[in-house]
Amino acid sequence: MRIPAGEVRRKNWIGGAWVPPSTDKYDACVNPADTREGLGEFPKSGAADARAAVDAAAKAFAGWSSTPGPERGRILARAYAILLEQVDLVAEALCREEGKILREARGEVLRGLNILEFYAGEGFRQHGKTLPSEMRSTLCFTLREPVGPVALITPWNFPFAIPMWKTAPALVAGCTVVLKPASLTPVCAHLIAEAFAEAGLPPGVLNVVTGPGGAIGDVLADDPRIRAVSFTGSNEIGLRLYQRVAARGVKVTLEMGGKNPVIVLDDADVDLAVEGIVQGAFGSTGQRCTATSRAVTTPTIAPRLTEALVERARKLRVGDGMQQGVEMGPAVDAGQLRTDLEAIAQARSEGARLLCGGERLSSAEHEHGFFLAPTIFDQVLPGTKLATEEVFGPVLAIQHARDAEEAVRIANDVAFGLTASIYTRDYFQAMRFVEKAEVGMLHVNQPTVGGEAQLPFGGIKATGVGEKEMAEEGANFFTHLKTVWLDYTGARRTTNIY
Ligand code: NAP
Repeated sequence: MRIPAGEVRRKNWIGGAWVPPSTDKYDACVNPADTREGLGEFPKSGAADARAAVDAAAKAFAGWSSTPGPERGRILARAYAILLEQVDLVAEALCREEGKILREARGEVLRGLNILEFYAGEGFRQHGKTLPSEMRSTLCFTLREPVGPVALITPWNFPFAIPMWKTAPALVAGCTVVLKPASLTPVCAHLIAEAFAEAGLPPGVLNVVTGPGGAIGDVLADDPRIRAVSFTGSNEIGLRLYQRVAARGVKVTLEMGGKNPVIVLDDADVDLAVEGIVQGAFGSTGQRCTATSRAVTTPTIAPRLTEALVERARKLRVGDGMQQGVEMGPAVDAGQLRTDLEAIAQARSEGARLLCGGERLSSAEHEHGFFLAPTIFDQVLPGTKLATEEVFGPVLAIQHARDAEEAVRIANDVAFGLTASIYTRDYFQAMRFVEKAEVGMLHVNQPTVGGEAQLPFGGIKATGVGEKEMAEEGANFFTHLKTVWLDYTGARRTTNIY
């Protein structure tokens, strides 16, 4: 396993072999902290390559789906052991292709590996149910069966963990896979393919095709052999894909954007809240679906909280995530940096008060990367763009509420529903928020970020469509249930009760 460099040309992983793209076109992958550094050239594949990957997945399905679950799980366990040995290498690749700091990159890799470890064990546990029948001497049970070859389409912001949290459950469920990683971050997906190949995954069970989402995505959406599509990314692309795939009656799960609030009530531990908000808003450069993008605060604590947040944000060291002491990396590319700066300009024009940051960093240390200063706006009014639309950058909006009740109303006043948090010492207030918050995941006295292999992950409202990911639910998505009636009376039954 090696991190690709410079002009090294990579291929697609199809049918158990590295295959050059039919297009003969490649895109360079570059380090967003220093665009002079290349991490190899990756196939800019076209429809023919996507079809070849589906051919391979369809061919491998009969063999893989009839492989006993524990045996499938053991291959995942071997891939886990291989990747665990290579954690530092994978973390470095991740840091250099996506930009998050090395400590966070390592955290992401370990989280992906927890998920792989969890699903390796799931090979022993593909639960159906036994249930009583209305009829005598009849055994009723359900079986979980893999849906078929599946397509997994992933974003750039978690280039190791998200491909892993889709691939591992699909494989253990008995599905074969075509994985299309984001064009900006193909390196980790290649490392995953290499690990599974080394672990003994049969040819064609996992296929990785890189290239533009449109050309490849359309093939994956339309090919009748693809029986489920799991997508994580933007709402715009996700909903378009949903309509296309749903038109042929196939399962879809979508995990999309967020606008996640942290409520800080007057009785909160202010230091704890500040740490949680800084981690949630500026960790991974704010490029997390679970990032804290709003702090909603009540009057007594607001001045202290605001002052401390600004002080912490100003002190954050921004730079190349491979450097010791750096606390925040760059935006992933020029396009994301532009989006961040446009959101900042828009917030100013809407009357929000800029407290810190707001500009691109361009000192010698920053001149070759896409660095933005950690940014905080105060007095962000409900209904404005910064209060309602995802930025996906290190930009925090502070909003003010009269009391806890209004804070909850403001927190819920967005289309998205991924995650939220509340800082308070009052368990009654915390439980009221647990009851009222319109989100799929909720924290009390913790940042909005994070997920664990054994816990369902995902959002509601405009964020999520379909089954939650990770945990048992994550694997269930890749199966259908068959209900069986087994009559053991041994005699001819004259009437059925219905
Ligand atoms: P994106 O632009 O929607 O891209 C996501 C994936 O879809 C990429 O692989 C992309 O390929 C592909 N794609 C593009 N056009 C397509 C099409 N027509 N058909 C099928 N696939 C297509 O999202 P992103 O910018 O990579 O990721 C950021 C977004 O992801 C944010 O909104 C964030 O909130 C969301 N996200 C959500 C979660 C969650 O769990 N809720 C987790 C992480 C991220 P190319 O790269 O080739 O364009």
